[in-house]
Amino acid sequence: MNESLIIYIGLGLVIVILAFLLLRKRPKKGKQQNNNLEGNLQDERQMSSIILNAIEDGVMLIDKNNIIQLFNPGAATITGWPENEAKSLDYKSVIKLVNDKGEAYSSDQDPLSKVVKDPEGGTIRDNNANLTSRSGKILPISLSVSPLMNQKKQFSGAVAIFRDVTKERLEEKQRSEFISTASHEMRTPVAAIEGYLALALNDKVSTIDTRAREYLEKAHESTQHLGKLFQDLLTSAKAEDGRLTSHPTVVELGSFMEQLTNDLRFAADKKGLALEYSFGSNETIDATVGKGKPAGEKVIRPLYYVKADPDRLREVITNLFDNAVKYTDQGKITIGLTGDNQVAQMYLKDTGVGIPSEDIPHLFQKFYRVDNSATRTIGGTGLGLYICRKIVELYQGRIWVESTQGKGSTFFINLPRLTTEKAEAEKRKETASNAVTNPITSSTSPMLQ
Ligand code: ADP
Repeated sequence: MNESLIIYIGLGLVIVILAFLLLRKRPKKGKQQNNNLEGNLQDERQMSSIILNAIEDGVMLIDKNNIIQLFNPGAATITGWPENEAKSLDYKSVIKLVNDKGEAYSSDQDPLSKVVKDPEGGTIRDNNANLTSRSGKILPISLSVSPLMNQKKQFSGAVAIFRDVTKERLEEKQRSEFISTASHEMRTPVAAIEGYLALALNDKVSTIDTRAREYLEKAHESTQHLGKLFQDLLTSAKAEDGRLTSHPTVVELGSFMEQLTNDLRFAADKKGLALEYSFGSNETIDATVGKGKPAGEKVIRPLYYVKADPDRLREVITNLFDNAVKYTDQGKITIGLTGDNQVAQMYLKDTGVGIPSEDIPHLFQKFYRVDNSATRTIGGTGLGLYICRKIVELYQGRIWVESTQGKGSTFFINLPRLTTEKAEAEKRKETASNAVTNPITSSTSPMLQ
């Protein structure tokens, strides 16, 4: 939260400088005009450089050929590159970004190269990046990159604002470690209470009167809710500090989703809701993983391969399905799969209460719950969709919702699609590495090779 706020303030200041340049007073005519103009320009330059020198955040301007044109003292302090050395260099030699594992960002991950590649996409923010300084030190930064367009609306460069967030990241880590430990410790006694309540409610082992049963049933329900809350807290804390276990493998979504739909059927039947599985579609789909542009491409391949942990994917779909059941009184739930060459798209559609448009932008935030008469009586933690988003982002995917209040909602998940050749190559790699880690199984069981 703080990081974004400071980045916004930084971005705000840079915009003030640009606005200052644009809205400067028009000069009067004649010689006096020239003198004034020069004076004004000098004042403006001075003012801009005072502001840029005073900002602690790093501000860097690159031109359309990736060459650094402006590098303020804040940027020099963070990166360890003096301004005069950084200027005129390709930004890639100065801004080297790595992920939490110390692996270099690919050009698909690097916000600067994403903006250069697709300036129409607007500003890109990354609050989880790390920068390798000139001396090789890795420091956590938050980064925001905006494209600069000239008067003819052509791309002319980009401005990057970044800030050292070592302190904030450390505090975040401590906070999430505390939540992790606390929820882990509390899960054990809650599980014991739940177990004993289940025994008390079991006719074969306990004798209780009707009134006591009613109380115990309520206590049992609340304990289950508490258990789910601790579990969700634990998962969200892990997701935040990158400890969420994930073993990505090649998954063919067609068979995976069909099987999962069958496993979920019981819960829908229990509430009297129809459940349908829909494969492929002639509808246009949001084909980009990063943002929403209709692609209009038809489905041409029946096999949708992605690289993800199937257990985590199951968690996401089950979560969305549980919500669809919870927030739908009558009608139908549709689980679907479609896509195009680049994207595999899963969706869950319901005919439930729907979501007010003003709540939609906040829905995937931690603890966010819609508070209205249709949802108030339905229990929940407000963590489910947050966890779903974190999992989907692990696989460079995107999750979003379209909804009409009173009519129903559709949750979409886009994941990058693997071509069949890539999927097969990945599968061969997986088999080979399994053979290395488990040589006895692989030599005695030809079926597994
Ligand atoms: P919760 O545990 O409250 O369900 P989630 O994070 O899963 O938490 O969902 C956040 C909020 O989004 C819910 O409180 C609910 O108001 C809304 N929501 C989620 N799914 C649906 C849906 N299918 N239909 C209507 N509202 C939904």
